[in-house]
Amino acid sequence: AKVLVTGANGYVAAWVVRSLLEKGYNVRGTVRSADKGEHLKQIFAKHGNRFEVAVVEDITKDGAFDDVVKDVDVIEHTASPFHFNAKEPDDLLVPAIHGTVGILESVKRHGSSVKRVVITSSNAAIYTSSDKPVVFDESDWNDPSVQQVEEKGVDTPPDVVYCASKTLAEKSAWKFYNKNKAAISWDLVVLNPPYVFGPLIQEVHSLNELNTSMQEVYDTVVLGKKDDATLQSGNAWVDVRDLGLAHVLAAEQAAAGGKRIIISGGSFFWQEIVDVANSIKPAPVPNLAKGKPGSTIGKPYLYKFKSSSERILGLEYRSLESTLRNALENFEELKELK
Ligand code: NDP
Repeated sequence: AKVLVTGANGYVAAWVVRSLLEKGYNVRGTVRSADKGEHLKQIFAKHGNRFEVAVVEDITKDGAFDDVVKDVDVIEHTASPFHFNAKEPDDLLVPAIHGTVGILESVKRHGSSVKRVVITSSNAAIYTSSDKPVVFDESDWNDPSVQQVEEKGVDTPPDVVYCASKTLAEKSAWKFYNKNKAAISWDLVVLNPPYVFGPLIQEVHSLNELNTSMQEVYDTVVLGKKDDATLQSGNAWVDVRDLGLAHVLAAEQAAAGGKRIIISGGSFFWQEIVDVANSIKPAPVPNLAKGKPGSTIGKPYLYKFKSSSERILGLEYRSLESTLRNALENFEELKELK
């Protein structure tokens, strides 16, 4: 079977492609320019002609995906901006929403062999920030982020804009799906991971230009950039390799059809991440930040996520310790990049 992965050069997508190839699938990965496909061709060379790159320059253009959805059985749509440098909300909202609706339109028109579309949403589309402990599940939506963007426009905090982009993109996918259900021969699965951590295999040029979630780990654990108050905050996390596998299982498991699935390894405090990183012996990276060791032990997590992933996908999760160990080893390998 053949799978289309959009934004294949991204942190998450590179692991999605790798998991698919290792399970025997043929993969077509889209990138925005041919040069962004070179590194992927190199790292996946051992899979021979089962991996190919296709260029989709602008995912917001009408019909952008018309050609690449032909002859594939499954779509894994991951391409979407995840950064906090937007000048205005539309920098994130437009590619997130139009990319998502655009690929669904293309599948409807030209994807006669497509049986399933898997979309990488986020827990950003689920949780709402809170100063008291809350438990979220797959029925929750981050509508307040959308409201904030409507009210504050260009003055919306960048993390809220990102949350709104994921919320609106996911909502538009479900709306399209429900509206077209009678006329299409595929079903929709949405995955909602929280912060994704773990080793990176995508092309990186510098330790200051990592993808957003791993940059935050590097800045926190290696460079000690978070102040004490921020170290007392947290969210939830998942290993990038578990998320890669989740994308394969989401394509395969019949029971996943029509579902929104949280893919989370557990909750964390940033101080806990720092503590776990420091507990790894021998230390893969010397002189890590310390913060206030042990100061979040026994404190209730602010955000907890109830997930159906074990039941529906049969997914098991790595421990935070093993994820951080492999992430630190990866930083050490990348250190000549500076
Ligand atoms: P990366 O930044 O590593 O990858 C993003 C991918 O999307 C790249 O291929 C990028 O292409 C592409 N992309 C970004 N903006 C555009 C645009 N305007 N037009 C076309 N393509 C674009 O991020 P991640 O791998 O972390 O994120 C992948 C997906 O996972 C996203 O949907 C994100 O929301 C989601 N996610 C990520 C989490 C995380 O912690 N990492 C957590 C939860 C969800 P290019 O390289 O050319 O910019």
